[in-house]
Amino acid sequence: MDLLLKGGTIVTADSTFKADIAVKDGKIIAIGTNLKPDKCTEIVDVKGKLVLPGAIDGHTHLAMPFGGTISSDDYYTGTKSAACGGTTTVFDFVLQGKGESMLDAIKRRDAIAAPDAAVDYSFHVGVCDVSTDALLDTMEDALKAGIPSFKVFMVYDFGVDDGSFYKVLQKAAKIGALVGVHAENRDVNNVLVKQYLSEGKTEAWWHYMAKNENVEGEADVRAINLAKMAGTSLYIVHLANKQGVDAVTQARDEGYPIFAETCPQYLHFTSDVYKRERGRDFVCSPPVKGKESQDAIWDAIKRGDITTIATDHCPFTQAEKDWGITTKDGKPGNFTTIPNGCAGIENMYPYVLSEANKGRISFNKAVELCSSNPAKLFGLDHLKGALQVGLDADIVIYDPKKKVTIKNAEMHGNLDHTIWEGVECKGYPVATYSRGTLVYKDGKFLGNKGAGKLIKCKPIKLNSPTL
Ligand SMILES: [Zn+2]
Repeated sequence: MDLLLKGGTIVTADSTFKADIAVKDGKIIAIGTNLKPDKCTEIVDVKGKLVLPGAIDGHTHLAMPFGGTISSDDYYTGTKSAACGGTTTVFDFVLQGKGESMLDAIKRRDAIAAPDAAVDYSFHVGVCDVSTDALLDTMEDALKAGIPSFKVFMVYDFGVDDGSFYKVLQKAAKIGALVGVHAENRDVNNVLVKQYLSEGKTEAWWHYMAKNENVEGEADVRAINLAKMAGTSLYIVHLANKQGVDAVTQARDEGYPIFAETCPQYLHFTSDVYKRERGRDFVCSPPVKGKESQDAIWDAIKRGDITTIATDHCPFTQAEKDWGITTKDGKPGNFTTIPNGCAGIENMYPYVLSEANKGRISFNKAVELCSSNPAKLFGLDHLKGALQVGLDADIVIYDPKKKVTIKNAEMHGNLDHTIWEGVECKGYPVATYSRGTLVYKDGKFLGNKGAGKLIKCKPIKLNSPTL
């Protein structure tokens, strides 16, 4: 064996026990008590520490063009940052161009990701053009290439209408794919934006008001109905409002395979952040909602009606966020000229584990939400998402006693601020292994650019709310 992690407490989604873990050629080869090393084994004493599967961040936007710029983390700095927060796999988005086949879109994006990624990665395809059957059929080519997960946008000008959304759902049902959805009511959002701007309401607060609880909730309800009509599963990404949570819960109670993701920013902050002096730094879509929604999301997590936590990591610099005051062309800015998105790729696992450490949820639940469930949902549980013999040795060593106050200066991404500044974590990852290789230890990144591999996922057939 290559590596022996000795004396730690292993935490998986369904159990907690003391055992050693042995690793060889990037895989876990044994789990048990008093495992015996051989001559060339590196032995690491992890007594007093928790040993967890690496997190799988199902929602990132690295090197993503948006709002006249590009998100500040590329596939290197983003995945480096991920590794330093205990995340060993990221799912990024391929945005299909007009007339472009899904497979070409994946190849185009992978050419950018492959040389840079420091941890393993995969993609969801953002479906933008299914105007012909031939284009719709390319979903199957993507699936055969190991990318069985798609996403549609009910907002933005590049998003789809309900008819195209429905066609994508039907296709997914047929081939065994998962459709994710960014649910917000585009038309109502557009009307509200016009009204607020004509009334001179330009601050970040109005971004929230134009994409308020109902604007998101209506679209969640509609998306669930479309999935029911098409007889297939649905994955609502970045769910942030109570109406949506209630709709997901009801559909799941009725036995429909409806799944929801939420993000740490919705769990920790409320819409009050938009009243801060730099409220524009928190502009993301959907915006952070009020306390009632936050409480509903936490309750749903505890009940099991939220399936995953992911970051929607999409960082922009403060100078870019300031385009909400003065645009890049020197014109007066407003909430629509602020690039949408916040950082979080390095903060998700530490934050969720810290909430577990404080007793809000169990450590097992934290592992389930951040690692095991994404692995099952996206079709990579044959490789990742658990600590089991035969799986990739994507392992995080967590010190429950270490206290860390998040400071942007100590983060590893390419950004000049973070919305997480000053947030205190009770416990923190102290080491991360990616396929058995140490990529992070005690605050330092030790991995390599390009070491991450594109993960090919299995087709996804989900017929019930249970994974
Ligand atoms: Zn997103």
